[in-house]
Amino acid sequence: MKVLFADFRPMHNEIRNELDEAYRRVLERSSFIQGEECEAFEREFASYCGAKYCVGVASGLDAIYLLLKALGIKMGDEVIIPSNTFIATALAVSYAGAVPVLVEPEIETYNIDPNQIEEAITEKTRAIIAVHLQGRAADMDAIQKIAERHQLVLVEDAAQAHGAAYKGKKVGTLSDGAAFSFYPGKNLGALGDGGGIVTNSKILADKLRALGNYGSDYKYHHIYKGVNSRLDEMQAAFLRVKLRNLDRWNLGRQKIAERYLNEIDNPRIQLPLANSREYGHIYHIFAIRCEKREELERYLNGKGICTVKHYPVPLHMQKAYEDLGFLKGSLPIAEEISRTILSIPMFYGMASDEVTYVIESLNTFKYGEKICRL
Ligand SMILES: *Cc1c(COP(=O)(O)O)cnc(C)c1O
Repeated sequence: MKVLFADFRPMHNEIRNELDEAYRRVLERSSFIQGEECEAFEREFASYCGAKYCVGVASGLDAIYLLLKALGIKMGDEVIIPSNTFIATALAVSYAGAVPVLVEPEIETYNIDPNQIEEAITEKTRAIIAVHLQGRAADMDAIQKIAERHQLVLVEDAAQAHGAAYKGKKVGTLSDGAAFSFYPGKNLGALGDGGGIVTNSKILADKLRALGNYGSDYKYHHIYKGVNSRLDEMQAAFLRVKLRNLDRWNLGRQKIAERYLNEIDNPRIQLPLANSREYGHIYHIFAIRCEKREELERYLNGKGICTVKHYPVPLHMQKAYEDLGFLKGSLPIAEEISRTILSIPMFYGMASDEVTYVIESLNTFKYGEKICRL
């Protein structure tokens, strides 16, 4: 059996007519940037998150970068981020002219370890970015306390966590501002690139809107040296259709995760921490760990099961960040995760016999077995 890692078709087949209608509506109206669709999506997504404002931008990376800029992060500042996040979190800090300071995650949750944040704070620290990695909220109570105690700006990177919750509140409302990506592969994905920032501050929202539109507060008047980063009408119209289905699609993922958590049973495989009521995990990614990860991956791929490593090279070992001066071994948990982690198929519409096949294949995995290629 062939099992894809992810497949957008089950989602898109359900809403094909609405997507067609959205496309025709935008084409007919002939307004492609900063029109009604973007405005409506911003209102609808803010309301979905339980926040007052949303500002559409061109990507998740831009969302984080612009948020840091709008919050006053500048050259020479330090910003704390988890050491095992996607590189965009670090790049956004670098674009703002600041230095990313890497703090180790907890191995059970893959999220930043709040107990290690304070040690990383210096007189240059200005902000903490809490990343809700793989769709599981970071431990925001603990992180909020630290941010308050040290008067630091707190930002969420919610690029992997649309609709995830923490103690009854949606992510996106647990900080000064939250960045979302609408990259097609995210739980709420456009049919192209897109991003958004959610906040309760009108001042911040207005500033973000100007920064993403050439620094302009109204036409041909420029109050900042801004950039061009906007969510276009076509993507906004598609996102509005998809947002109406997001909770149901997330539930589909949660049901698959529940089966994985209940039925995968192999001492060679570590499962991620199960979802508790406090953490409304939306399983953007379902990642297991295995001491002999390469062997497990070859075995699964040999059985037709697609897998991905999120992420095979930790941030501090990337060539782009060799200037941070880290040596191998200096961030052991991030390194351990990147050495052992393996993401298994997880998408809305995955058939139950596919889920069963993945579970059975994992349960019969042994070390050192000959792999038969399909
Ligand atoms: C995808 C992602 C981003 C970047 O989003 P883009 O839309 O691809 O720019 C940032 N942070 C995290 C954690 C992500 O997963």
